[in-house]
Amino acid sequence: MILPPATLGLLGGGQLGRFFVSAAHELGYRVVVLDPDPDSPAGRIADQHLAAAYDDPAALDHMAATCAAISTEFENVPAGSLAWLARSLPVRPGAEAVSICQNRCAEKAFLRRFGLPLAPYAEIRCAEDVQLADADLFPGILKVARFGYDGKGQVVVDNRAQAREAFVRFGFEPCVLEKKLELERELSVVLARDENGEVRCFAAAENLHRRGILDVSFVPHARAGEAAAAERLAVELAQRMDYVGVLAVEFFVVGKRIYINEMAPRPHNSGHYTLDACATSQFEQQVRALCGLPLGDPRRHSAAVMVNLLGDLWYGDGEEAAREPDWRKLLAVPNLKLHLYGKPDARPGRKMGHFTVLGSEAATAVETALAVHQSIG
Ligand code: ADP
Ligand code: MG
Repeated sequence: MILPPATLGLLGGGQLGRFFVSAAHELGYRVVVLDPDPDSPAGRIADQHLAAAYDDPAALDHMAATCAAISTEFENVPAGSLAWLARSLPVRPGAEAVSICQNRCAEKAFLRRFGLPLAPYAEIRCAEDVQLADADLFPGILKVARFGYDGKGQVVVDNRAQAREAFVRFGFEPCVLEKKLELERELSVVLARDENGEVRCFAAAENLHRRGILDVSFVPHARAGEAAAAERLAVELAQRMDYVGVLAVEFFVVGKRIYINEMAPRPHNSGHYTLDACATSQFEQQVRALCGLPLGDPRRHSAAVMVNLLGDLWYGDGEEAAREPDWRKLLAVPNLKLHLYGKPDARPGRKMGHFTVLGSEAATAVETALAVHQSIG
């Protein structure tokens, strides 16, 4: 067990990292954050911020020398950096799990190998693969295998010609071509797994997206059977990967079927409700799993609705200059918790903060949350 006041290392300094730093501080740990952005949200509140590249040898050396263990909040950290750090200290999740999650080809191959349910797809590594792809995959979505997020690096393609064109536009990067499904719902599950294989699973959230970016998440999900199926699949996935740390799994519901969409080797935007609605948050679980502490109780004490605050909100009706939204309207709502990430400049599509409305049932919390969101938008 790694006990406070040990120093923990975190690769990545975004808002997920910022919440990790807060959770670690609450338990009495110190944190060193590595992120090239000199103004990163987590770097600002960490005990030390190394503003260097994720493969900077001096920065990695410093982390190996000062930290008791390493975690990550960003799946695109070079797996080589994790592997190098793992030679001298615990790294959770490990390089192998992260390298599966950071590449859609590896991720889907892994799911297929264990017979886990996923949408029909084909790997596209050269233009010829588009010709060979099953006709049934159209209309489909071409997604770059690496570095896509928030709907970036993917495009809907109706036929082979469009798929070829998109593949060229993506610079011949390896891609997956996935069948476009008629989604009824999207769910996600966040869980923590420790070294002994103990798993604690947070309740499945239902997620609504807007323009490819998560907009609203709520719990509990109305269909208990579906939520239970998603939770079972997420646990199976974590066991199969021998995963240690916090894992997020996204799901598609199509008719009576449930498919695994993708996974992330870290806490997830859709798990932010756990900050305010659960006995233990996803970030505290990340600290606990990293340090070998007993995992916390993931039980939910309220229904909750989380609404993302994107930079768009700063530009009312087509205004040119950014203007701070009127936070008083949010702060006046009982049972509403506001979280802002301290990012200096609001840009459309950028995640600036979120709020969570707590309630005794999801339906009323959703109503309140949507009404409040409209009033400031
Ligand atoms: P990202 O890394 O950007 O989150 P995802 O693969 O999760 O990438 O896709 C983003 C969103 O696009 C999904 O949450 C879903 O709303 C939609 N989407 C992705 N793949 C499909 C698909 N095969 N069929 C229908 N919708 C999809
Ligand atoms: Mg996604």
